[in-house]
Amino acid sequence: MNLPIIYHPDYVTPLPDNHRFPMPKFKLLHDLLIADGVIQPEQVKPPEKPPREWLELVHTPEYVRAYCEGTLDAKAQRRIGLPWSPALVTRTCTAVGGTILAAKLALSVGMACNTAGGTHHAFPDYGSGFCIFNDFAIASRLLLHLGWVKKILIVDLDVHQGDGTAFIFQDDPRVFTFSMHCEANFPGRKQRSDLDVPLPTDLDDDGYLQILAQHLPDLFDRVQPDLVLYDAGVDTHVSDRLGKLAMSDYGLYRRERMVLSSCAAAGYPVACVIGGGYNKDMPALVYRHSLLHRAASEVFGQYKL
Ligand SMILES: [Zn+2]
Repeated sequence: MNLPIIYHPDYVTPLPDNHRFPMPKFKLLHDLLIADGVIQPEQVKPPEKPPREWLELVHTPEYVRAYCEGTLDAKAQRRIGLPWSPALVTRTCTAVGGTILAAKLALSVGMACNTAGGTHHAFPDYGSGFCIFNDFAIASRLLLHLGWVKKILIVDLDVHQGDGTAFIFQDDPRVFTFSMHCEANFPGRKQRSDLDVPLPTDLDDDGYLQILAQHLPDLFDRVQPDLVLYDAGVDTHVSDRLGKLAMSDYGLYRRERMVLSSCAAAGYPVACVIGGGYNKDMPALVYRHSLLHRAASEVFGQYKL
């Protein structure tokens, strides 16, 4: 069995020119992974769109309906920051399906990676910061509902706090939310995760990895999860347009190795999403996201999962 990589052509949908959300990156990431031989075409698994009932395990039926039918009011639309279209609805739902599929496959083979996902600013009844439906929250609720897992650990290393996810699970002991993020970044008003580690602006690789290494082992021991959901946002990079940390490509690669080896060594299945990453230099950004899949392929092979 090879490492499953989740991708669908519907991950990309047109946006207006010069929109700051880097929509083309999802297809380019898939293409780069194939071109560089990181993955073989047969490893790529296409997700399906989840039925509405699955979305409603987290989101209110009113919000799901209004978004899917394009009837959200202008203010709610602006808060999301992506112009509504039927194609964007398809994209949004397919990407959530991708994270669900990654989580299911991780449970059967030990590890799986989506080539999208990480919509952690979505709350039950509204979206925000390019996030419409909360993929980790939906995947968690579904697997708990199906009885496939009893305890989930969310490791959110995007530069922005996973505020929607923290809010959704604030009273749910079955899902432990861990967010390590730059304190000075969006959202201005933070929620309370089960464990928050706010970081100072301009933190570099060594500082970042040292803090992560201080927390990860304790976290795994404490939670003993049946599944880890990992948001590998690369907006912690020094050249990211939005993030205020100062990591390098090599630092990101070391981070992905650290997280994934920790999971593999302890026998915790892990499903990964790419999270945020914003840069006008598209090839550099796509390469940065691919570090997750490169590290995952290596760890997967090394531990013969
Ligand atoms: Zn982010």
